[in-house]
Amino acid sequence: MASHIVGYPRMGPKRELKFALESFWDGKSSAQDLQKVAADLRESIWKQMTGAGIKYIPSNTFSYYDQMLDTTAMLGAVPPRYGWNGGEIGFDVYFSMARGNASVPAMEMTKWFDTNYHFIVPELGPDVNFSYASHKAVTEYKEAKALGVNTVPVLIGPVSYLLLSKPAKGVEKTFSLLSLLGKILPIYKEVISELKEAGASWIQFDEPTLVMDLESHKLESFTEAYSELESTLSGLNVLIETYFADIPAEQYKTLTSLKGVTAFGFDLGKHLFAGVVDGRNIWANDLAASLSTLKALEGVVGKDKLVVSTSCSLLHTAVDLVNETKLDKEIKSWLAFAAQKVVEVNALAKALAGEKDEEFFSANAAALASRKSSPRVTNEAVQKAAAALKGSDHRRATNVSARLDAQQKKLNLPILPTTTIGSFPQTMELRKVRREYKAKKVSEDDYIKAIKEEISKVVKLQEEFDIDVLVHGEPERNDMVEYFGEQLSGFAFSANGWVQSYGSRCVKPPIIYGDVSRPKSMTVFWSALAQSMTSRPMKGMLTGPVTILNWSFVRNDQPRFETCYQIALAIKDEVEDLEKNGITVIQIDEAALREGLPLRKSEQAFYLDWAVHSFRITNCGVQDTTQIHTHMCYSNFNDIIHSIINMDADVITIENSRSDEKLLSVFREGVKYGAGIGPGVYDIHSPRIPSAEEIADRINKMLAVLETNILWVNPDCGLKTRKYSEVKPALKNMVDAAKLLRTQL
Ligand code: GLN
Ligand code: ZN
Repeated sequence: MASHIVGYPRMGPKRELKFALESFWDGKSSAQDLQKVAADLRESIWKQMTGAGIKYIPSNTFSYYDQMLDTTAMLGAVPPRYGWNGGEIGFDVYFSMARGNASVPAMEMTKWFDTNYHFIVPELGPDVNFSYASHKAVTEYKEAKALGVNTVPVLIGPVSYLLLSKPAKGVEKTFSLLSLLGKILPIYKEVISELKEAGASWIQFDEPTLVMDLESHKLESFTEAYSELESTLSGLNVLIETYFADIPAEQYKTLTSLKGVTAFGFDLGKHLFAGVVDGRNIWANDLAASLSTLKALEGVVGKDKLVVSTSCSLLHTAVDLVNETKLDKEIKSWLAFAAQKVVEVNALAKALAGEKDEEFFSANAAALASRKSSPRVTNEAVQKAAAALKGSDHRRATNVSARLDAQQKKLNLPILPTTTIGSFPQTMELRKVRREYKAKKVSEDDYIKAIKEEISKVVKLQEEFDIDVLVHGEPERNDMVEYFGEQLSGFAFSANGWVQSYGSRCVKPPIIYGDVSRPKSMTVFWSALAQSMTSRPMKGMLTGPVTILNWSFVRNDQPRFETCYQIALAIKDEVEDLEKNGITVIQIDEAALREGLPLRKSEQAFYLDWAVHSFRITNCGVQDTTQIHTHMCYSNFNDIIHSIINMDADVITIENSRSDEKLLSVFREGVKYGAGIGPGVYDIHSPRIPSAEEIADRINKMLAVLETNILWVNPDCGLKTRKYSEVKPALKNMVDAAKLLRTQL
């Protein structure tokens, strides 16, 4: 019985690749140094999988930045502005595409399906001259082979590559990306031939777009592509790998629609790669349950046709549990990171072949049983409260326009009120004092003093600039989810559970393992303190339940919505505590609401329903005069605008930096938005300082579409990553622009 791994994290157990990349980019180490770190990581991964007994071990799942960018390099599809003159693509051109350089900005980056991984979007037009310009797939195959490991080279499939691309500037409306299929297949053929020559016996094409709702012409291009490749592929075993959802059975009858079983052989029916080990979470597999699934499948496809696999690349989970020295033993026994999942896959394959490792299986069963019965997981009161939510809509009693009137009487704000999104620059000293307080090197008194000073500085600055609704700047927070997770019950934190987000950037999601509750108030102390420093309204600043959920590793023993409702109840208590303590404007950030949207349309309504409901639960109990804000980190919500309205917030601030048009078109098309709205007037992701005229110009464009009395003026996200030297002039210009326009209205 065979075992297979779809793909593996690149960063290394201690983020070795991250540090090597950043040092290379900073000019502190050479290309050879970087290549050495990368080669060592690849070698250790291949050896580890070999040692675990995996039969089909992937190669070319390593990347210096991103696998889509690697494919762009393979095809020589470098946009002209990077000045590439042919030949094998090196670090120079590669990293310029990824990160930009002194004269040219980077290529666009976007989310990889519904994960938190971001890929570099290929830009393709009718006159791209494709050429075989990166031999990485073949080189890595040979590298593994030289180490004695015969791998399955992995390529992004040609159809998914095109479907995930975007048309180059100027041809957006007229150009069909799929028309390039005939031009890229010859390069795929060259790569395949070289791999064959080098000795490969298998090849894996990742075609994840197959799980999406596809129009028939898109579906047909799969047939077209693989028929065209058929003769080149002959002699190879071909695996088409799909992940992130099951394949729509109604569309693609030839493929099984069994949940979690998404891979199939090119010669259909030959092999079934069953992704029974979840590649996206951090939980130990239920080995007994997986084994019985596999046995059932074996009955359908036959013993020699079944391969045990992961549900997707392990790229989306943490690397290795071995390095978790701080997690307590019980919780640790419930978990499996990438390295442990490899072992699970192999154990299942062996068990299926009649060589069950009884000890391993019973340890797994014991861990699962302890998770099920642990009092740390279940909190009866929370379960009851969450169950009682059903059947109610949790809507504020008064409608939004009446609420806004009541709020205005109390707040007395000018038209085009100004505000910011929450965080102010996080200086080195600030990070240091937080770190030392955590390590108990700084006393609580000294810590409070330092944070208080910071808040007071931020408050004074905002008053000086004459901003209308203030924030405290979030100096006490390292991360908008971790900060709350650390104070809620039911959360655990890993020391090294990093997951690649983009390039060298990694995130370390909290682990929600149990029922969530709030032992005591989380933000009232700081918000009340900040409010006491000013007579202007000070926004209470919370992270919303959906965002906390979507940016965590979520328990898999109850539906996501139940966990979300529990978090919502905890945040609701916090909202009401803030209100009781004199905070009249409360912002509940839902930065990640949209990214939880399921890939398939048929599942989206249900998600939006409970996600929006969860948000309403948090604030349905406040008085009319309490103003609820929310913030979102994207502007492409044209498709979910009705859900956003249904959140029933009083004011929404939205990222809008790169696309006024997209956002405003929703309202131009007649969507009625009665609540306050603050589309960001400048891009905080860039060090550029916008002039007052430029900002006024943008506000004017918005005023042409939105009613004057609902428009707010604010940057498009938190200022945490910027320097004070950038923030000060930018905010000053922002307020100047608002003031100028007020005199003209
Ligand atoms: N309030 C948060 C901040 O300003 C929001 C961050 C975000 O939207 N990602 O930092
Ligand atoms: Zn944001």
